[in-house]
Amino acid sequence: MAETKLYDVLGVSRSASETELKKAYRNLAKEFHPDKNPYAGDKFKEISFAYEVLSDPEKRSIYDRHGIRGIQEGVQDFGGDGLLFSQFFSGGLFGMGSRMFNQKGENTFHSVKVTLEELYNGNKTSVLQLSKKVLCATCSGKGSKSGQTYPCRSCKGYGVKLTFRHLHPTMAQQVQTQCTDCVGLGYVIHEMDLCPGCRGKKVLNETKILNVKIDKGMADGQKIYFRGEGHQQPDMIPGDVILVLKLKPHDRFQRSDNDLYMTQKITFTDALCGFSLVVKHLDGRDLLINHPAGSIIKPGDIKGIRGEGMPVYRNPFEKGNLYIKFDVEFPANHSISEENLKILESLLPARPAAVIPPAEMLEEVDLYDYDPNDRSNQPADNDDDEEGTFEEMHAGAIPPCAYQ
Ligand SMILES: [Zn+2]
Ligand SMILES: [Zn+2]
Repeated sequence: MAETKLYDVLGVSRSASETELKKAYRNLAKEFHPDKNPYAGDKFKEISFAYEVLSDPEKRSIYDRHGIRGIQEGVQDFGGDGLLFSQFFSGGLFGMGSRMFNQKGENTFHSVKVTLEELYNGNKTSVLQLSKKVLCATCSGKGSKSGQTYPCRSCKGYGVKLTFRHLHPTMAQQVQTQCTDCVGLGYVIHEMDLCPGCRGKKVLNETKILNVKIDKGMADGQKIYFRGEGHQQPDMIPGDVILVLKLKPHDRFQRSDNDLYMTQKITFTDALCGFSLVVKHLDGRDLLINHPAGSIIKPGDIKGIRGEGMPVYRNPFEKGNLYIKFDVEFPANHSISEENLKILESLLPARPAAVIPPAEMLEEVDLYDYDPNDRSNQPADNDDDEEGTFEEMHAGAIPPCAYQ
């Protein structure tokens, strides 16, 4: 039975001439144009789609011979039009009225590991090899030589059966199991009529190569869509293959939006006396950073370099900033002699003298290095201090009532 849905949409017969089609389309398009008829948006799309197919002699002939299905299977041949078709069908415009193509297959997700260098430099193509189900070419996804399949009587075409499992005399659980007669396919084909290509399965596994282009400024978690490249199933619009970029951690830079962050160790002498420093960038350039003497850098200070961050996605001539946090390494104990310390002190700003109270109230104590694993084990209840001990104040988790 030949399909006539697209002709019906335009209100013409299957033998309509190009002129008749054009006329019918013009009249309907005028009537249902979203500007004039904002509530008929879908109707307008339906009309446009019907005209698009029927006004193209090649597509019309495919449609006449194979119906919507033929157009769908031809998506790949039409190249860029694939997007339009899948958008159209996934919108369900042919909706409930048509048993065919009102469902879109599931999207398939894959993650692709990328380095920060690749996101900075762009222009990289990763090759991804995927296993994909495609309609059997021998039978065009029908499963049989004749095109005939019969709904499985045992499961009424559902591929699954519902059975009851008794948990208790008064309680039963409904369980869904795969139909054994049709191995879950929902249809049966006569042994002699089985397609030799797929043995009735309608689909075959194929290896698909996708070229993934990494552009400058792309981000961790960004999705790259390959429309309609998902698994093919009979009477279904293939879903999309969606690649999710996964950024590998970088040993020097962290990224935040379009800015880059790094930590740089400098010596105490650098911090006081200025320095020259070379930072290797993600594109291999060496950035020479000169910091003048007399402008002291404190531990944890952050300085920025404009325009040396990440390129902006789709606007790569614009770049974020690079921020450098300085980690100042102090000299080791005893690395400066006593005489030199005296000289150093004479060069540094004078410090105020310590104020020492009268001797009768004075007790001299020693400092030792703090070790969090070797603290005094004195229980808190020895302490009358209601403010709590040092560790209680820092632990912050002990409720006050525990001490009443
Ligand atoms: Zn069955
Ligand atoms: Zn086949």
